[in-house]
Amino acid sequence: MTNHTSLTKKNAEKHPPHGILKSTVPFPKLESNQAVIQEVFSSIQGEGLHAGERQVFVRVAHCHLHCAYCDTPMTTPRGDCAVETQPGSNQWVAVPGLQRVEDTEMLIAGLIAQAPHHSVSFTGGEPLLYPYYLKSLMERIQRLGVKTYLETSGTQPHSLAKVLQFVDVISMDVKLPSSTKEAERWQQHADFYRTATQAPHVELFVKVVVNHDSTLDELTHLASIITDTQTPIYLQPETSLLEDGVLNITPSHLLNLQGFLARHFSTVRVLPQTHKMMKIS
Ligand code: SF4
Repeated sequence: MTNHTSLTKKNAEKHPPHGILKSTVPFPKLESNQAVIQEVFSSIQGEGLHAGERQVFVRVAHCHLHCAYCDTPMTTPRGDCAVETQPGSNQWVAVPGLQRVEDTEMLIAGLIAQAPHHSVSFTGGEPLLYPYYLKSLMERIQRLGVKTYLETSGTQPHSLAKVLQFVDVISMDVKLPSSTKEAERWQQHADFYRTATQAPHVELFVKVVVNHDSTLDELTHLASIITDTQTPIYLQPETSLLEDGVLNITPSHLLNLQGFLARHFSTVRVLPQTHKMMKIS
């Protein structure tokens, strides 16, 4: 889920957005301590409550959704994992994509040793497709003294329950049909939010991608699900997949949506994908 939006130069060249080219690498048969990982790198979080923080990113492969605005490939072309050799260098080496918990931990530990990091961000794809792997890896990360940060579509409550004990921060997406062009997910979002808020140790915020088709009716649904009015809400204007830096929403509609939600919630911020402005991973 996802700093789903960190389409690197490398990706842009090698992996067109999956809305245009879907992965041909099928979801493999896995043991519980395995996952398919696309990328491991150190960079700056570009979205939401912790925008600007230094993180290690672990980008898993595959997702059960098909959001129309998604700019993240579902796998690399050969199913391997790209690891950046030096943070910010855009030089990558390929390692096997199918990884055991200890394989990924070793890659993460190597990056953490180079500089202090706020947290390890599990993004995708959908990290909660791999709950047993995630639970075990998150526990190990916390033992290293680093926080765990889960970027998710907010649609897999049962998997969330399995890992919740070892999650420090959740960036929960609420998917509006107007932006995903998929069926509504209100019930899944409601169950996910209820599960997440059962863990008082978790810092939770909600991210919503909006565009010119997004409606106040959809935001009314959102407000009925996100029952704690103190939950921070981040509206993320959808960016064009075709034109660099172009937003798919007018300023007046964006302000209209923000103003509506601000009557329900104490914190409603508008934040575009800042890592794209900086042109970093
Ligand atoms: S949840 Fe949507 S945006 Fe995120 S990886 Fe899956 S398809 Fe892409």
